[in-house]
Amino acid sequence: MTRNMDNYSRFSEVLQQWDSGRIWTNEPLAAHNSWRIGGPADLLVEPENAQQVATLMQAVREFEIPLVVIGQGTNLLFDDDGVRGVVLKIGEQMAHIRIDGQRIIAGGGAWVPQLARLSMRAGLTGLEHTIGIPGTVGGLVMMNGGSQRKGIGENIVQVTIVDAAGEIRQLSQADCAFSYRHSALQGTGAVVVEAELECPRGELAAVRREMIDDLRTRRKKFPRKQPNCGSVFLSTTEMHATVGPPGKIIEEAGLKGTRIGNAEVSHQHANFIVNLGGASSADVLALIHQIRKVVRDKIGFELNCEVRYVSPAGKLMPAHMKNDGVS
Ligand SMILES: Cc1cc2nc3c(=O)[nH]c(=O)nc-3n(C[C@H](O)[C@H](O)[C@H](O)COP(=O)(O)OP(=O)(O)OC[C@H]3O[C@@H](n4cnc5c(N)ncnc54)[C@H](O)[C@@H]3O)c2cc1C
Repeated sequence: MTRNMDNYSRFSEVLQQWDSGRIWTNEPLAAHNSWRIGGPADLLVEPENAQQVATLMQAVREFEIPLVVIGQGTNLLFDDDGVRGVVLKIGEQMAHIRIDGQRIIAGGGAWVPQLARLSMRAGLTGLEHTIGIPGTVGGLVMMNGGSQRKGIGENIVQVTIVDAAGEIRQLSQADCAFSYRHSALQGTGAVVVEAELECPRGELAAVRREMIDDLRTRRKKFPRKQPNCGSVFLSTTEMHATVGPPGKIIEEAGLKGTRIGNAEVSHQHANFIVNLGGASSADVLALIHQIRKVVRDKIGFELNCEVRYVSPAGKLMPAHMKNDGVS
């Protein structure tokens, strides 16, 4: 992609008017995702408030600069060539959490385990299933993430977004149309800057016990030391009922430990691909391709990715779609 340097410099002038927030040029994206993979972003920007996000959204639109929104990057595969555009990180600068009775207001950059912990300490229940999810509230809302077949959407009352035109807007739970690992926000270009949740009162000791049990199970089941992006493939109700979850299917297809370059199907949990050190995005994509082919041939099921691939042009897609040549 050719860069319009004039547009870039006019865009940079807008950012220079900020009196807070952080801006990096040529920032290696490997430092901003849990797989530790990815080349540089032309610009990486971490705003401090919704107004700055709105200004940025208006400017990328005006100057036609590709934009990618990220949180902790725990569900993303960046390309080795990075991103020719702006990466907008909603992170620790927008990570406030306030609890008022049964209502919780959390910034889009708030860390999910911290949200779960504070809700537990306030004697609230409902977020136990999120304690081990290492992403941000914005990423969780976008993906309707959760575990034990639950999703964060169940507790959402309202979400504050900045839309693609740079307007700050409030959306209700119904507007977000949450379904399994999906929300109506996906594909709209909206940025989640805050979420309001409601959680019923619970018994602190019981909530705490459930969280500890969840973390203990995760520690046993999931690889902890090697960089990874959590579950690579999505489960479906039909698949689960007929042949089991993706991890079981991949293991039964004999793929545990399969390695391409420095990417490997985890020996601990077959739905995880781990970076053995220096893995490239091409290694991971080739391994995803191989897993899908073997599972299709041996088990007869089509595995689709939960993990999103980010192209150098700033396009996001389920990682298997890149393998299929859709980019
Ligand atoms: C070890 C491990 C375990 C995991 N376990 C689980 C699990 O049990 N359940 C589960 O659901 N997920 C799990 N995940 C995946 C991941 O943590 C979640 O999907 C998480 O919600 C993603 O948050 P993030 O901040 O990292 O988002 P990112 O990975 O940065 O982004 C994910 C998507 O959300 C978008 N996005 C991020 N922030 C915003 C924002 N503020 N506004 C608009 N869009 C945004 C991005 O554009 C992208 O499309 C796991 C990951 C790991 C590494």
